[in-house]
Amino acid sequence: MTTSALTTSALTTSPKLSSSVPTGLWLAGRSVEASSGAWFDVLNPATGEVLASVADANAIDVLSALAVASAAQARWAATPPRTRGEILHRAWELVTERAEEFALLMTLEMGKPLSESRGEVAYGAEFLRWFAEEAVRIGGRTATAPSGNGRILVTKEPVGPCLAVTPWNFPLAMGTRKIGPALAAGCTVIVKPAEDTPLTMLLLAQVFAEAGLPEGVLSVVPGLDSAGIVGALMADPRLRKVSFTGSTRVGKILIAQSATHVLRTSMELGGNAPFIVFDDADLDKAVDGALAAKMRNGGQACTAANRFLVHNGVREEFTATLAARLGALRTGPGWESGTELGPIINQTQLSRIAQLVDEAVVAGATVRTGAKAVAGDGFFYAPTVLDEVPADARIRTEEIFGPVAVIEGFDTEAQAIEAANSTEFGLAAYFFTRDLDRSLRVASALESGMVGVNRGVISDPAAPFGGVKSSGLGSEGGSEGIEEYLTTKYIALTS
Ligand code: ADP
Repeated sequence: MTTSALTTSALTTSPKLSSSVPTGLWLAGRSVEASSGAWFDVLNPATGEVLASVADANAIDVLSALAVASAAQARWAATPPRTRGEILHRAWELVTERAEEFALLMTLEMGKPLSESRGEVAYGAEFLRWFAEEAVRIGGRTATAPSGNGRILVTKEPVGPCLAVTPWNFPLAMGTRKIGPALAAGCTVIVKPAEDTPLTMLLLAQVFAEAGLPEGVLSVVPGLDSAGIVGALMADPRLRKVSFTGSTRVGKILIAQSATHVLRTSMELGGNAPFIVFDDADLDKAVDGALAAKMRNGGQACTAANRFLVHNGVREEFTATLAARLGALRTGPGWESGTELGPIINQTQLSRIAQLVDEAVVAGATVRTGAKAVAGDGFFYAPTVLDEVPADARIRTEEIFGPVAVIEGFDTEAQAIEAANSTEFGLAAYFFTRDLDRSLRVASALESGMVGVNRGVISDPAAPFGGVKSSGLGSEGGSEGIEEYLTTKYIALTS
Protein backbone atom coordinates (compact mmCIF):
# COMPACT_ATOMS: atom_id res chain seq x y z
CA MET A 1 0.00 0.00 0.00
CA THR A 2 1.29 3.48 -0.81
CA THR A 3 1.25 5.87 2.13
CA SER A 4 1.36 9.61 1.85
CA ALA A 5 3.51 12.09 3.65
CA LEU A 6 0.26 13.48 4.98
CA THR A 7 -0.51 12.47 8.50
CA THR A 8 -3.69 12.84 10.45
CA SER A 9 -3.32 15.91 12.63
CA ALA A 10 -1.42 14.95 15.80
CA LEU A 11 -4.40 13.25 17.30
CA THR A 12 -6.14 15.11 20.03
CA THR A 13 -7.11 12.64 22.74
CA SER A 14 -10.23 10.76 21.85
CA PRO A 15 -13.29 11.57 23.98
CA LYS A 16 -14.11 8.73 26.37
CA LEU A 17 -17.05 6.39 26.00
CA SER A 18 -19.94 7.44 28.22
CA SER A 19 -20.44 5.03 31.13
CA SER A 20 -24.18 4.98 30.36
CA VAL A 21 -23.65 2.88 27.22
CA PRO A 22 -24.49 -0.78 27.98
CA THR A 23 -21.83 -3.26 26.88
CA GLY A 24 -23.59 -6.53 27.76
CA LEU A 25 -26.05 -8.39 25.54
CA TRP A 26 -29.52 -6.84 25.66
CA LEU A 27 -31.75 -9.74 26.66
CA ALA A 28 -35.17 -9.78 28.30
CA GLY A 29 -35.05 -6.05 28.99
CA ARG A 30 -31.62 -5.88 30.61
CA SER A 31 -27.89 -5.85 29.89
CA VAL A 32 -26.31 -9.23 30.70
CA GLU A 33 -23.01 -11.03 30.23
CA ALA A 34 -22.69 -13.68 27.53
CA SER A 35 -23.25 -17.22 28.86
CA SER A 36 -19.63 -18.04 27.97
CA GLY A 37 -18.37 -14.97 29.82
CA ALA A 38 -16.56 -13.93 26.60
CA TRP A 39 -16.04 -10.31 25.53
CA PHE A 40 -14.65 -8.81 22.33
CA ASP A 41 -12.96 -5.48 21.64
CA VAL A 42 -14.52 -2.68 19.65
CA LEU A 43 -11.92 -0.32 18.18
CA ASN A 44 -12.01 3.41 17.59
CA PRO A 45 -11.08 3.55 13.87
CA ALA A 46 -9.59 7.04 14.20
CA THR A 47 -6.95 5.86 16.67
CA GLY A 48 -6.87 2.07 16.30
CA GLU A 49 -7.31 1.88 20.11
CA VAL A 50 -9.82 -0.23 22.02
CA LEU A 51 -12.96 1.77 22.68
CA ALA A 52 -14.88 -0.84 24.68
CA SER A 53 -15.25 -4.55 25.33
CA VAL A 54 -18.64 -5.96 24.43
CA ALA A 55 -20.27 -9.24 25.46
CA ASP A 56 -19.74 -11.89 22.78
CA ALA A 57 -22.97 -13.84 22.17
CA ASN A 58 -22.90 -17.49 21.20
CA ALA A 59 -25.63 -19.80 19.88
CA ILE A 60 -27.01 -20.44 23.40
CA ASP A 61 -27.45 -16.70 23.98
CA VAL A 62 -29.19 -16.01 20.69
CA LEU A 63 -31.55 -18.94 21.19
CA SER A 64 -32.40 -17.47 24.63
CA ALA A 65 -33.18 -14.23 22.82
CA LEU A 66 -35.41 -16.14 20.41
CA ALA A 67 -37.16 -17.87 23.32
CA VAL A 68 -38.03 -14.52 24.92
CA ALA A 69 -38.99 -13.00 21.55
CA SER A 70 -41.23 -15.95 20.87
CA ALA A 71 -42.81 -15.79 24.34
CA ALA A 72 -43.45 -12.04 23.97
CA GLN A 73 -44.83 -12.29 20.40
CA ALA A 74 -48.53 -12.94 21.04
CA ARG A 75 -48.83 -10.22 23.67
CA TRP A 76 -47.01 -7.65 21.58
CA ALA A 77 -49.15 -8.49 18.53
CA ALA A 78 -52.26 -8.01 20.71
CA THR A 79 -51.01 -4.69 22.13
CA PRO A 80 -53.18 -1.93 20.66
CA PRO A 81 -51.57 -0.31 17.62
CA ARG A 82 -51.92 3.08 19.29
CA THR A 83 -49.87 1.84 22.27
CA ARG A 84 -47.22 0.37 19.96
CA GLY A 85 -47.10 3.68 18.12
CA GLU A 86 -46.81 5.66 21.36
CA ILE A 87 -43.85 3.59 22.53
CA LEU A 88 -42.14 4.16 19.17
CA HIS A 89 -42.91 7.85 19.39
CA ARG A 90 -41.49 8.04 22.91
CA ALA A 91 -38.33 6.26 21.70
CA TRP A 92 -38.04 8.86 18.92
CA GLU A 93 -38.31 11.63 21.54
CA LEU A 94 -35.68 10.05 23.78
CA VAL A 95 -33.20 9.49 20.93
CA THR A 96 -33.77 13.08 19.82
CA GLU A 97 -33.23 14.39 23.37
CA ARG A 98 -30.02 12.38 23.59
CA ALA A 99 -28.91 13.20 20.03
CA GLU A 100 -25.44 14.42 21.05
CA GLU A 101 -24.73 11.25 23.03
CA PHE A 102 -25.78 9.03 20.12
CA ALA A 103 -23.83 11.17 17.63
CA LEU A 104 -20.59 11.06 19.62
CA LEU A 105 -20.98 7.32 20.18
CA MET A 106 -21.32 6.70 16.42
CA THR A 107 -18.33 8.92 15.70
CA LEU A 108 -16.27 6.95 18.21
CA GLU A 109 -17.21 3.46 17.06
CA MET A 110 -17.66 4.07 13.33
CA GLY A 111 -15.53 7.14 12.64
CA LYS A 112 -17.85 9.45 10.70
CA PRO A 113 -17.50 13.20 11.37
CA LEU A 114 -19.76 14.48 14.16
CA SER A 115 -21.79 16.59 11.73
CA GLU A 116 -22.63 13.42 9.77
CA SER A 117 -23.37 11.50 12.97
CA ARG A 118 -25.83 14.22 13.96
CA GLY A 119 -27.44 13.86 10.55
CA GLU A 120 -27.71 10.11 11.04
CA VAL A 121 -29.33 10.54 14.46
CA ALA A 122 -32.03 12.74 12.91
CA TYR A 123 -32.46 10.37 9.94
CA GLY A 124 -32.31 7.17 12.00
CA ALA A 125 -34.69 8.44 14.69
CA GLU A 126 -37.15 9.53 12.02
CA PHE A 127 -37.85 5.88 11.17
CA LEU A 128 -39.20 5.52 14.72
CA ARG A 129 -41.49 8.53 14.32
CA TRP A 130 -42.57 7.56 10.80
CA PHE A 131 -43.49 4.01 11.82
CA ALA A 132 -45.14 5.26 15.05
CA GLU A 133 -47.54 6.96 12.64
CA GLU A 134 -47.86 3.87 10.40
CA ALA A 135 -48.71 1.56 13.34
CA VAL A 136 -52.26 2.92 13.42
CA ARG A 137 -52.76 2.74 9.64
CA ILE A 138 -52.44 -1.00 9.05
CA GLY A 139 -55.35 -1.68 6.77
CA GLY A 140 -57.11 -4.57 5.08
CA ARG A 141 -60.02 -4.82 2.69
CA THR A 142 -63.39 -6.38 2.20
CA ALA A 143 -65.27 -7.30 -0.95
CA THR A 144 -68.32 -9.22 -2.01
CA ALA A 145 -67.31 -12.43 -3.80
CA PRO A 146 -68.02 -12.00 -7.56
CA SER A 147 -70.23 -15.10 -7.43
CA GLY A 148 -72.30 -13.36 -4.79
CA ASN A 149 -71.53 -16.30 -2.57
CA GLY A 150 -70.25 -14.62 0.60
CA ARG A 151 -67.68 -12.00 1.48
CA ILE A 152 -63.94 -11.75 1.10
CA LEU A 153 -62.29 -10.28 4.19
CA VAL A 154 -58.58 -9.52 4.00
CA THR A 155 -56.62 -8.76 7.18
CA LYS A 156 -52.97 -8.07 7.94
CA GLU A 157 -51.11 -9.83 10.74
CA PRO A 158 -47.56 -9.52 12.08
CA VAL A 159 -45.22 -12.11 10.58
CA GLY A 160 -43.85 -13.06 14.03
CA PRO A 161 -40.38 -12.98 15.59
CA CYS A 162 -37.87 -11.25 13.28
CA LEU A 163 -34.10 -11.23 13.01
CA ALA A 164 -32.44 -7.98 11.90
CA VAL A 165 -28.80 -8.31 10.81
CA THR A 166 -27.21 -4.90 10.39
CA PRO A 167 -23.95 -3.49 8.98
CA TRP A 168 -21.43 -1.08 10.52
CA ASN A 169 -21.75 1.89 8.16
CA PHE A 170 -24.93 3.43 9.65
CA PRO A 171 -24.99 1.97 13.17
CA LEU A 172 -28.28 3.64 14.17
CA ALA A 173 -30.29 4.04 10.97
CA MET A 174 -29.77 0.51 9.64
CA GLY A 175 -31.28 -0.72 12.92
CA THR A 176 -34.16 1.72 13.26
CA ARG A 177 -35.42 1.16 9.75
CA LYS A 178 -35.95 -2.50 10.59
CA ILE A 179 -36.96 -2.13 14.26
CA GLY A 180 -39.42 0.72 13.56
CA PRO A 181 -41.65 -1.15 11.07
CA ALA A 182 -41.28 -4.49 12.88
CA LEU A 183 -42.49 -3.07 16.21
CA ALA A 184 -45.21 -1.03 14.51
CA ALA A 185 -46.50 -4.17 12.78
CA GLY A 186 -46.57 -6.11 16.08
CA CYS A 187 -43.44 -8.24 15.59
CA THR A 188 -40.78 -8.94 18.20
CA VAL A 189 -37.18 -8.36 17.07
CA ILE A 190 -33.68 -9.68 17.65
CA VAL A 191 -30.93 -7.43 16.30
CA LYS A 192 -27.50 -8.83 15.41
CA PRO A 193 -25.45 -5.64 14.93
CA ALA A 194 -22.13 -5.58 13.09
CA GLU A 195 -19.18 -6.55 15.27
CA ASP A 196 -17.38 -3.26 14.45
CA THR A 197 -20.23 -1.08 15.76
CA PRO A 198 -22.47 -2.83 18.33
CA LEU A 199 -22.64 -0.02 20.91
CA THR A 200 -25.17 2.27 19.21
CA MET A 201 -27.75 -0.56 19.00
CA LEU A 202 -27.15 -1.48 22.66
CA LEU A 203 -27.80 2.12 23.69
CA LEU A 204 -30.92 2.17 21.51
CA ALA A 205 -32.24 -0.97 23.23
CA GLN A 206 -31.80 0.73 26.60
CA VAL A 207 -33.68 3.77 25.30
CA PHE A 208 -36.53 1.52 24.13
CA ALA A 209 -36.77 0.05 27.64
CA GLU A 210 -37.04 3.60 29.02
CA ALA A 211 -39.73 4.29 26.43
CA GLY A 212 -41.82 1.47 27.90
CA LEU A 213 -41.16 -1.38 25.45
CA PRO A 214 -42.09 -4.63 27.24
CA GLU A 215 -39.29 -7.07 28.11
CA GLY A 216 -38.35 -9.53 25.42
CA VAL A 217 -39.84 -7.55 22.51
CA LEU A 218 -36.39 -6.26 21.47
CA SER A 219 -33.06 -8.03 22.04
CA VAL A 220 -29.59 -7.06 20.80
CA VAL A 221 -26.99 -9.81 20.46
CA PRO A 222 -23.54 -8.69 19.28
CA GLY A 223 -21.04 -11.44 18.61
CA LEU A 224 -17.88 -12.22 16.69
CA ASP A 225 -19.14 -15.53 15.31
CA SER A 226 -21.76 -13.97 13.05
CA ALA A 227 -22.15 -17.07 10.86
CA GLY A 228 -22.65 -19.30 13.92
CA ILE A 229 -25.10 -17.13 15.81
CA VAL A 230 -27.14 -16.06 12.80
CA GLY A 231 -27.08 -19.66 11.52
CA ALA A 232 -28.48 -20.94 14.86
CA LEU A 233 -31.39 -18.53 14.63
CA MET A 234 -32.07 -19.27 10.95
CA ALA A 235 -32.27 -22.99 11.76
CA ASP A 236 -34.97 -22.50 14.42
CA PRO A 237 -38.61 -22.66 13.26
CA ARG A 238 -39.71 -20.06 15.84
CA LEU A 239 -38.01 -17.36 13.72
CA ARG A 240 -40.37 -16.13 10.97
CA LYS A 241 -38.46 -13.40 9.18
CA VAL A 242 -34.96 -12.14 8.45
CA SER A 243 -34.15 -8.60 7.39
CA PHE A 244 -30.56 -8.13 6.32
CA THR A 245 -28.43 -5.18 5.25
CA GLY A 246 -24.92 -6.00 4.11
CA SER A 247 -22.96 -7.62 1.34
CA THR A 248 -24.53 -9.59 -1.51
CA ARG A 249 -22.25 -12.49 -0.56
CA VAL A 250 -23.76 -12.83 2.92
CA GLY A 251 -27.26 -11.98 1.66
CA LYS A 252 -27.13 -14.99 -0.66
CA ILE A 253 -26.15 -17.22 2.27
CA LEU A 254 -29.14 -15.96 4.26
CA ILE A 255 -31.53 -16.38 1.32
CA ALA A 256 -30.37 -20.00 1.03
CA GLN A 257 -30.78 -20.54 4.79
CA SER A 258 -34.23 -18.97 4.74
CA ALA A 259 -35.42 -21.87 2.58
CA THR A 260 -35.21 -24.27 5.55
CA HIS A 261 -38.24 -22.82 7.33
CA VAL A 262 -39.55 -20.72 4.41
CA LEU A 263 -38.81 -17.39 6.11
CA ARG A 264 -39.93 -14.02 4.87
CA THR A 265 -36.82 -12.10 3.76
CA SER A 266 -35.89 -8.47 3.18
CA MET A 267 -32.47 -7.99 1.64
CA GLU A 268 -30.64 -4.67 1.27
CA LEU A 269 -27.44 -5.75 -0.45
CA GLY A 270 -24.50 -4.27 -2.30
CA GLY A 271 -24.58 -1.54 -4.94
CA ASN A 272 -22.44 -0.18 -7.75
CA ALA A 273 -24.15 3.16 -8.27
CA PRO A 274 -23.59 5.05 -11.52
CA PHE A 275 -23.49 8.86 -11.36
CA ILE A 276 -24.14 10.28 -14.83
CA VAL A 277 -23.32 13.87 -15.79
CA PHE A 278 -24.87 14.91 -19.11
CA ASP A 279 -23.44 17.82 -21.08
CA ASP A 280 -26.52 19.96 -20.38
CA ALA A 281 -26.13 19.58 -16.59
CA ASP A 282 -25.55 22.47 -14.20
CA LEU A 283 -21.93 21.53 -13.47
CA ASP A 284 -21.72 23.32 -10.12
CA LYS A 285 -24.76 21.39 -8.91
CA ALA A 286 -23.36 18.18 -10.37
CA VAL A 287 -20.09 18.61 -8.46
CA ASP A 288 -21.99 19.37 -5.24
CA GLY A 289 -24.12 16.27 -5.86
CA ALA A 290 -21.01 14.21 -6.58
CA LEU A 291 -19.45 15.23 -3.29
CA ALA A 292 -22.58 14.22 -1.41
CA ALA A 293 -23.09 10.96 -3.33
CA LYS A 294 -19.43 9.96 -3.05
CA MET A 295 -18.21 11.33 0.24
CA ARG A 296 -21.09 10.88 2.68
CA ASN A 297 -19.76 8.42 5.24
CA GLY A 298 -16.40 8.55 3.44
CA GLY A 299 -17.91 6.60 0.55
CA GLN A 300 -18.83 3.75 2.90
CA ALA A 301 -22.47 3.49 1.84
CA CYS A 302 -24.22 1.03 -0.45
CA THR A 303 -25.81 4.01 -2.20
CA ALA A 304 -22.41 5.71 -2.73
CA ALA A 305 -21.66 6.76 -6.30
CA ASN A 306 -19.21 4.12 -7.50
CA ARG A 307 -18.77 5.06 -11.18
CA PHE A 308 -18.86 8.62 -12.53
CA LEU A 309 -20.02 8.54 -16.15
CA VAL A 310 -19.31 12.00 -17.55
CA HIS A 311 -20.09 13.32 -21.04
CA ASN A 312 -16.77 13.81 -22.82
CA GLY A 313 -17.69 17.44 -23.57
CA VAL A 314 -17.66 18.35 -19.86
CA ARG A 315 -15.44 15.58 -18.52
CA GLU A 316 -12.25 17.62 -18.00
CA GLU A 317 -14.02 20.53 -16.30
CA PHE A 318 -16.05 18.22 -14.05
CA THR A 319 -13.04 16.05 -13.16
CA ALA A 320 -10.72 18.97 -12.41
CA THR A 321 -13.33 20.65 -10.19
CA LEU A 322 -14.19 17.43 -8.38
CA ALA A 323 -10.50 16.62 -7.81
CA ALA A 324 -9.88 20.11 -6.41
CA ARG A 325 -12.89 19.89 -4.07
CA LEU A 326 -12.07 16.37 -2.86
CA GLY A 327 -8.37 17.09 -2.49
CA ALA A 328 -9.18 20.04 -0.21
CA LEU A 329 -11.30 18.02 2.23
CA ARG A 330 -10.00 17.99 5.77
CA THR A 331 -9.28 14.45 6.93
CA GLY A 332 -9.11 13.64 10.63
CA PRO A 333 -10.82 12.18 13.70
CA GLY A 334 -14.56 12.71 13.51
CA TRP A 335 -14.82 14.48 16.87
CA GLU A 336 -12.44 17.29 15.83
CA SER A 337 -14.25 20.36 14.62
CA GLY A 338 -13.69 20.99 10.92
CA THR A 339 -13.19 17.32 10.03
CA GLU A 340 -14.87 16.55 6.71
CA LEU A 341 -13.60 13.01 6.14
CA GLY A 342 -13.17 10.46 8.91
CA PRO A 343 -11.33 7.12 8.93
CA ILE A 344 -12.17 3.91 7.10
CA ILE A 345 -13.87 1.43 9.44
CA ASN A 346 -10.96 -1.01 9.88
CA GLN A 347 -7.59 -2.15 8.57
CA THR A 348 -9.10 -4.85 6.33
CA GLN A 349 -11.31 -2.35 4.50
CA LEU A 350 -8.46 0.15 4.26
CA SER A 351 -6.16 -2.44 2.68
CA ARG A 352 -8.93 -3.47 0.26
CA ILE A 353 -9.46 0.10 -0.95
CA ALA A 354 -5.72 0.69 -1.29
CA GLN A 355 -5.36 -2.50 -3.29
CA LEU A 356 -8.18 -1.61 -5.70
CA VAL A 357 -6.61 1.80 -6.33
CA ASP A 358 -3.04 0.48 -6.61
CA GLU A 359 -4.11 -2.15 -9.16
CA ALA A 360 -5.89 0.48 -11.28
CA VAL A 361 -2.88 2.80 -11.16
CA VAL A 362 -0.48 0.02 -12.15
CA ALA A 363 -2.83 -0.79 -15.04
CA GLY A 364 -2.60 2.81 -16.30
CA ALA A 365 -5.20 4.93 -14.48
CA THR A 366 -4.41 8.62 -14.06
CA VAL A 367 -4.37 9.92 -10.46
CA ARG A 368 -6.06 13.34 -10.30
CA THR A 369 -5.76 13.51 -6.50
CA GLY A 370 -5.01 11.20 -3.57
CA ALA A 371 -4.43 7.48 -4.16
CA LYS A 372 -2.65 7.14 -0.82
CA ALA A 373 -3.34 5.83 2.63
CA VAL A 374 -2.67 8.48 5.25
CA ALA A 375 0.23 7.67 7.58
CA GLY A 376 -0.31 7.81 11.32
CA ASP A 377 -2.73 6.30 13.78
CA GLY A 378 -6.11 5.00 12.71
CA PHE A 379 -7.30 3.85 9.28
CA PHE A 380 -7.31 6.86 6.96
CA TYR A 381 -7.34 7.01 3.15
CA ALA A 382 -6.89 10.24 1.20
CA PRO A 383 -9.82 11.38 -0.98
CA THR A 384 -9.01 10.14 -4.46
CA VAL A 385 -10.03 10.81 -8.06
CA LEU A 386 -8.92 8.43 -10.84
CA ASP A 387 -9.43 8.99 -14.58
CA GLU A 388 -8.56 6.87 -17.62
CA VAL A 389 -9.15 3.68 -15.63
CA PRO A 390 -8.83 0.59 -17.86
CA ALA A 391 -12.19 -1.10 -18.53
CA ASP A 392 -11.13 -4.37 -16.93
CA ALA A 393 -9.83 -2.86 -13.67
CA ARG A 394 -11.60 -4.37 -10.64
CA ILE A 395 -12.32 -0.88 -9.30
CA ARG A 396 -14.81 -0.38 -12.17
CA THR A 397 -16.87 -3.45 -11.32
CA GLU A 398 -16.56 -3.86 -7.53
CA GLU A 399 -18.13 -1.75 -4.82
CA ILE A 400 -15.28 0.51 -3.61
CA PHE A 401 -16.75 1.48 -0.20
CA GLY A 402 -14.25 4.29 0.26
CA PRO A 403 -13.49 7.90 -0.72
CA VAL A 404 -12.43 7.07 -4.29
CA ALA A 405 -14.11 8.51 -7.40
CA VAL A 406 -13.56 6.75 -10.73
CA ILE A 407 -14.30 8.76 -13.90
CA GLU A 408 -15.38 7.29 -17.26
CA GLY A 409 -16.34 9.27 -20.37
CA PHE A 410 -19.28 8.79 -22.77
CA ASP A 411 -20.59 10.47 -25.92
CA THR A 412 -24.27 9.54 -26.22
CA GLU A 413 -27.19 9.02 -23.85
CA ALA A 414 -27.51 5.43 -25.05
CA GLN A 415 -23.86 4.75 -24.16
CA ALA A 416 -24.36 6.24 -20.70
CA ILE A 417 -27.42 4.09 -20.02
CA GLU A 418 -25.73 0.96 -21.29
CA ALA A 419 -22.67 1.58 -19.11
CA ALA A 420 -24.85 2.40 -16.08
CA ASN A 421 -26.80 -0.84 -16.43
CA SER A 422 -23.81 -3.07 -17.16
CA THR A 423 -23.57 -4.39 -13.62
CA GLU A 424 -25.21 -7.17 -11.65
CA PHE A 425 -26.26 -4.53 -9.07
CA GLY A 426 -29.21 -2.15 -9.12
CA LEU A 427 -29.54 -0.17 -5.90
CA ALA A 428 -29.07 3.56 -6.49
CA ALA A 429 -28.33 5.60 -9.63
CA TYR A 430 -27.87 9.34 -10.03
CA PHE A 431 -27.88 11.66 -13.02
CA PHE A 432 -27.69 15.38 -13.72
CA THR A 433 -29.42 17.08 -16.65
CA ARG A 434 -31.54 20.18 -17.20
CA ASP A 435 -33.76 18.41 -19.75
CA LEU A 436 -37.10 17.19 -18.34
CA ASP A 437 -37.78 14.75 -21.21
CA ARG A 438 -34.39 13.20 -20.70
CA SER A 439 -34.95 13.04 -16.94
CA LEU A 440 -38.04 10.89 -17.32
CA ARG A 441 -36.55 8.77 -20.13
CA VAL A 442 -33.29 8.03 -18.32
CA ALA A 443 -34.95 7.46 -14.92
CA SER A 444 -37.14 4.80 -16.48
CA ALA A 445 -34.27 3.19 -18.46
CA LEU A 446 -31.98 2.76 -15.45
CA GLU A 447 -32.11 -0.72 -13.88
CA SER A 448 -32.07 0.55 -10.35
CA GLY A 449 -34.39 0.50 -7.34
CA MET A 450 -33.75 4.19 -6.63
CA VAL A 451 -32.85 7.09 -8.89
CA GLY A 452 -31.64 10.54 -7.84
CA VAL A 453 -32.29 13.24 -10.46
CA ASN A 454 -30.16 16.35 -9.99
CA ARG A 455 -29.38 15.34 -6.42
CA GLY A 456 -26.74 13.24 -4.71
CA VAL A 457 -28.63 12.17 -1.58
CA ILE A 458 -31.86 10.22 -1.87
CA SER A 459 -32.47 8.45 1.47
CA ASP A 460 -35.70 9.48 3.17
CA PRO A 461 -37.63 7.57 5.87
CA ALA A 462 -40.85 8.40 3.98
CA ALA A 463 -39.60 6.76 0.75
CA PRO A 464 -39.15 3.07 -0.11
CA PHE A 465 -35.42 2.21 -0.05
CA GLY A 466 -34.49 -0.94 -1.93
CA GLY A 467 -32.72 -2.47 -4.87
CA VAL A 468 -33.25 -4.73 -7.87
CA LYS A 469 -31.05 -7.46 -9.39
CA SER A 470 -28.29 -8.54 -6.97
CA SER A 471 -28.93 -5.48 -4.79
CA GLY A 472 -31.82 -7.02 -2.93
CA LEU A 473 -35.44 -7.81 -2.23
CA GLY A 474 -38.07 -5.61 -0.61
CA SER A 475 -38.24 -2.01 0.57
CA GLU A 476 -37.45 -0.22 3.81
CA GLY A 477 -39.17 3.02 4.77
CA GLY A 478 -42.24 4.65 3.31
CA SER A 479 -45.67 3.08 3.51
CA GLU A 480 -44.10 0.05 1.80
CA GLY A 481 -41.72 -0.57 4.72
CA ILE A 482 -44.31 -1.96 7.13
CA GLU A 483 -45.66 -4.44 4.56
CA GLU A 484 -42.40 -6.38 4.90
CA TYR A 485 -43.47 -7.28 8.45
CA LEU A 486 -47.09 -8.15 7.73
CA THR A 487 -48.72 -11.26 6.29
CA THR A 488 -52.03 -11.27 4.47
CA LYS A 489 -54.89 -13.40 5.73
CA TYR A 490 -58.01 -14.09 3.68
CA ILE A 491 -61.16 -14.93 5.64
CA ALA A 492 -64.07 -16.31 3.59
CA LEU A 493 -67.35 -15.22 5.20
CA THR A 494 -70.82 -16.45 4.53
CA SER A 495 -73.69 -15.33 6.68
P1 ADP B 1 -19.86 -5.65 5.16
O1 ADP B 1 -19.07 -6.11 3.99
O2 ADP B 1 -20.59 -4.37 4.99
O3 ADP B 1 -19.17 -5.78 6.48
P2 ADP B 1 -21.23 -8.09 5.70
O4 ADP B 1 -22.24 -8.67 4.80
O5 ADP B 1 -19.95 -8.82 5.87
O6 ADP B 1 -21.07 -6.63 5.19
O7 ADP B 1 -21.82 -7.86 7.15
C1 ADP B 1 -23.12 -7.37 7.41
C2 ADP B 1 -23.66 -8.06 8.64
O8 ADP B 1 -23.71 -9.47 8.37
C3 ADP B 1 -22.83 -7.91 9.90
O9 ADP B 1 -23.69 -7.82 11.02
C4 ADP B 1 -22.03 -9.19 9.93
O10 ADP B 1 -21.63 -9.56 11.24
C5 ADP B 1 -23.04 -10.18 9.40
N1 ADP B 1 -22.45 -11.40 8.81
C6 ADP B 1 -21.24 -11.53 8.23
N2 ADP B 1 -21.07 -12.80 7.78
C7 ADP B 1 -22.21 -13.48 8.07
C8 ADP B 1 -22.67 -14.82 7.86
N3 ADP B 1 -21.91 -15.72 7.24
N4 ADP B 1 -23.90 -15.15 8.28
C9 ADP B 1 -24.68 -14.25 8.89
N5 ADP B 1 -24.31 -12.96 9.13
C10 ADP B 1 -23.10 -12.58 8.73
